[in-house]
Amino acid sequence: MDTQCGDLSALSISDEYPSTGSVEPVHSAGTPQGEGEDNAGGFGELAELPIEINERRPTCLRCGRPQKVCLCPFLPVRPLEVSTSLYIVQHPAEESRVLRTVPLLAACLPPERCRVFVGRRFNEERNPELAAVCQDPRTLILYPGSEAENLEDLSVDFAAAAHSVIIIDGTWSQAKDMFHRNALFRSPKQVQLNSSVSSQYVIRTQPTNMCLSTLECAAVTLAIMEKNKAIEELLLRPLQALCSFQLQHGAQVHHSKEHLLRNGLYHKPMPKNKRKIKRMERLVTNQNI
Ligand SMILES: [Zn+2]
Repeated sequence: MDTQCGDLSALSISDEYPSTGSVEPVHSAGTPQGEGEDNAGGFGELAELPIEINERRPTCLRCGRPQKVCLCPFLPVRPLEVSTSLYIVQHPAEESRVLRTVPLLAACLPPERCRVFVGRRFNEERNPELAAVCQDPRTLILYPGSEAENLEDLSVDFAAAAHSVIIIDGTWSQAKDMFHRNALFRSPKQVQLNSSVSSQYVIRTQPTNMCLSTLECAAVTLAIMEKNKAIEELLLRPLQALCSFQLQHGAQVHHSKEHLLRNGLYHKPMPKNKRKIKRMERLVTNQNI
């Protein structure tokens, strides 16, 4: 999820929500799923069969993209040195999305500065590390709402001590569910991004122009906390490359639903559900959802 934007903020988004993709688990420092299955021993003739799995597109181990469209040339040469640690809590559905942004984010940062936890429910027993982070007073959670303070306005000296930030990676509704149904996430201070960045992630439909992908949220967050705007630019480079590559290869620009509605270009049949209609009206009138 992403976060940002006034209220819709914090989540990374897309029609459903956000994020990037590819087959490989973000944090596997190694073998992409589906490769390297060498346990032929024991399967007799099966081992003689052509291994289709190897014919799948080979995946770059660093950026998680298929090798033919590897984005490593757009990544920083070395992982960025930051003192803030990101803890991405990722809805399981995000892991299998084709276009995910978290692997790109992870590829730009040292592994210990970007940890990814996949799941819907988290608790102290099953996730002691995450629980400890949540209970640390220097941890923030990026999730917009009336309770959230703007990160830019916090009077905290982030340079004085290393902080951690929890970011939820999922569609808006997934993120909402994860935030409200995990007591752990109540502990950290809730923050949102108030910057006027418009999403550059143009190949997925986002509810509003202001809804950022998880990568964009992380980039803006780190730039603020590390007081270094260059971090944001470096983190966004692979995303820009990804978008321009996709567009060159036939992907269509997905304007946000807000843009489509405002310009009379929204072609899907209007929903029958009154709540949905209200929500769309609010998008047009720019009120918080
Ligand atoms: Zn790569």
